[in-house]
Amino acid sequence: MSKEVSIPWISDFLGVAYRYYDLRMNVVPLFSERKQAVNLWHDTIHWWNDHSIKIRFVETGDQYWFVMGGDSTKPQTNKSFFKILDKSPNYERFKKGHDGEAYLRLGTYTKKFKNDAKDDAVCNCSHIKEDHELERGQDACLVEECQCKKFETFQVNLLKKKKTITDIKFLQEDEVKDDPLTWNCLYINKYRKMN
Ligand SMILES: [Zn+2]
Ligand SMILES: [Zn+2]
Repeated sequence: MSKEVSIPWISDFLGVAYRYYDLRMNVVPLFSERKQAVNLWHDTIHWWNDHSIKIRFVETGDQYWFVMGGDSTKPQTNKSFFKILDKSPNYERFKKGHDGEAYLRLGTYTKKFKNDAKDDAVCNCSHIKEDHELERGQDACLVEECQCKKFETFQVNLLKKKKTITDIKFLQEDEVKDDPLTWNCLYINKYRKMN
């Protein structure tokens, strides 16, 4: 058994955001609680050597596996991350635009309703807050043909700390055998469970 096998996999985060900041793409695992993100950074990611951080994307139809890990100078608290996510326009944008480098930051994801959203906030239906009006107790969208019955948006806040990632790969599932981190992830979290 190699050392890598004993690193626990965690997937209890909400998803991953891909954002342009500081002229570089940011890969942002999202948490509902700020404290959870801060602790995870402090206990785990802080100890990763930047050049050892790996991010892998394994595409399976309309979904993909997000896989991330690094070599730690404090191996006893090291963890690796994975999450099965739906492909999104932001994901596709990252795939095309990352250019081999990205910043890793953690973030929090908060749902916002009409009362606590900013005036220029955009609803998940793609129309702005102003287009939504209270009707029979619900903030329905007034744009014709839009089926949205309730204004709902989200806010992503990024923690300040960041690390540079330069090892980014997009893989097909038949290629994961040649990539130890990804193989370990899929073996433990997928193939082993199928037996
Ligand atoms: Zn709406
Ligand atoms: Zn709408």
